[in-house]
Amino acid sequence: MTETVTNWAGNVVYAAKELHRPHSLDALRALVAGSRAVRVLGSGHSFNRIAEPGAEGVLLSLEALPGGIDVDGAARTVRVGGGVRYAELARAVHARGLALPNMASLPHISVAGSVATGTHGSGVGNGSLAAAVREVELVTGDGSTVVVRRGEERFGGAVTALGALGVVTALTLDLEPAFEVEQHVFTELPEDGLDFATVAGAAYSVSLFTDWREPGFRQVWLKRRTDQPLAAFPWAAPARERLHPVPGMPAVNCTEQLGVPGPWHERLPHFRPEFTPSSGQELQSEYLMDRSCALRALAALDRIRAAVAPVLQICEVRTVAADEQWLSPAYGRDSVAVHFTWVADTAAVLPVVRAVEGALEPFGARPHWGKVFEVPAPRLRGLYPRLGDFAGLVRELDPAGKFTNAFVREVLEG
Ligand SMILES: Cc1cc2nc3c(=O)[nH]c(=O)nc-3n(C[C@H](O)[C@H](O)[C@H](O)COP(=O)(O)OP(=O)(O)OC[C@H]3O[C@@H](n4cnc5c(N)ncnc54)[C@H](O)[C@@H]3O)c2cc1C
Repeated sequence: MTETVTNWAGNVVYAAKELHRPHSLDALRALVAGSRAVRVLGSGHSFNRIAEPGAEGVLLSLEALPGGIDVDGAARTVRVGGGVRYAELARAVHARGLALPNMASLPHISVAGSVATGTHGSGVGNGSLAAAVREVELVTGDGSTVVVRRGEERFGGAVTALGALGVVTALTLDLEPAFEVEQHVFTELPEDGLDFATVAGAAYSVSLFTDWREPGFRQVWLKRRTDQPLAAFPWAAPARERLHPVPGMPAVNCTEQLGVPGPWHERLPHFRPEFTPSSGQELQSEYLMDRSCALRALAALDRIRAAVAPVLQICEVRTVAADEQWLSPAYGRDSVAVHFTWVADTAAVLPVVRAVEGALEPFGARPHWGKVFEVPAPRLRGLYPRLGDFAGLVRELDPAGKFTNAFVREVLEG
């Protein structure tokens, strides 16, 4: 490949024979049908080689494909093209008086790439972003289109599919009436006596941030829908100024706080679309566990804080409601998600990632598919009871294995 293509973080240079940006669906079909190995690159915000086609494969970007965003106000759905990002989608949906149920911490990411990896925001009642998907349109290995709809048995494998079934050319998502959100930030929540269920349920979306240097949580972010009651939060002090969750980063990068109400898409993400999200110089890892394990999992991490803190920028604890996607890290269980924003130093971070995975193994921790993890393939397979069904769906929709790259092969076969 003449062009060097990296992920957002810059820790992965994708190996590929060619990069293509097809301008039409017909051109896309021809490219897929005429290639031996294909992967799609979304917005490249994953931290591992999940999107890599390999040295003999073709990397596809859908940025130039027409057919972006089509809102059906009466049905309260939106059909969104395979290359569209959440920031653009959210603006278009809001302009029609409608809303997505939830968003991740940043709106910069593509919709198709996000739901493929089980990306999520927070909220005890909010599923991962894939939970809003009702229909998937795929261009499969022979260039033909397959549509999989909610209600079909195989839908369980079709959304959080790691890009392994084909090119997602469109997704149809459920919408709801637009709503307003206030963002309240609190500081210094003590760890002792933490009632995790009550704190995590104190607003529509709640995030707890710790640096594992001192006991307790440096910040708690509450995103309250203004159409829901305001719960008291007596455990920590309200912040007096706007804050960024990563120490040393400017608060101007973040969505409005201090309880100022605003539209859902300008409060649910932590970061504004026109600014760098997070720190910009980082690696990330994240693990999802049954929510009942939250306090025990935090105690296990507390025991290795001396190893974690030196390579950590910030750790975020969120909740995700159970969903039905076979490969979703929140499959079948209401989950607690513990996320780590590491320093941008792979050699220093990987031993600590392994230590975190050792500490969280007793809780059946499933790693985020789009972040750095070292969980060995056999253990990974043990964490997903429907993996065999997913492998069957891969054989059905992609019998030639065009979309099975090294990452997916490891997951399926070890
Ligand atoms: C700063 C930052 C903050 C983040 N915050 C969160 C967060 O709050 N919550 C969370 O859960 N995650 C978070 N993530 C992780 C991120 O959401 C995931 O890595 C997600 O997959 C990114 O989407 P993408 O389009 O960039 O995916 P990519 O990395 O481009 O691709 C991911 C996968 O999707 C496949 N894919 C993409 N588009 C298509 C398509 N059209 N058809 C078929 N396959 C496709 C790719 O082949 C690949 O397998 C964050 C990442 C960063 C960098």
